[in-house]
Amino acid sequence: MSIIDDVLLNAKSAADSVGKKAGKVIDRSKLRLAALDIRSELSRKYRMLGKVCYEADRTGKDYSKGIKQLEDNISELIEQLERINELLASSEKKIKCYGCGTYNVKGAVFCSKCGVRLSEAKPQDEDEYSQEELLDFAEEIMEEDDDNV
Ligand SMILES: [Zn+2]
Repeated sequence: MSIIDDVLLNAKSAADSVGKKAGKVIDRSKLRLAALDIRSELSRKYRMLGKVCYEADRTGKDYSKGIKQLEDNISELIEQLERINELLASSEKKIKCYGCGTYNVKGAVFCSKCGVRLSEAKPQDEDEYSQEELLDFAEEIMEEDDDNV
């Protein structure tokens, strides 16, 4: 094999690995965009739910079907958001602390937030983490609403 062939081959494999990296970057930014979309949709649904509840209370009319529908939509969106967050975290190769749910850099020995020893991590408790995240998210939504009113 000539030197030129060798250089071309190396250049090609370098381009391939850049392409793969770029692919990952694109996927991650797509995920982030999707998460943003879902958050704004969630925000909209929460507002709608608030309006419907307000109207129901004010007029005494039965809006329970509409409320149920909105609640189902919201639950679905929250599930999607969680799935995306999991994907984002796993694509960063982070490990989740079993104590507080914080994502830590892979290879970390202690949790950066609560200091728990990560190498002794038990199987992840998804429910516990989701609850915390949901509460955080609900707080964010409420803060947003306060700003806009
Ligand atoms: Zn922790």
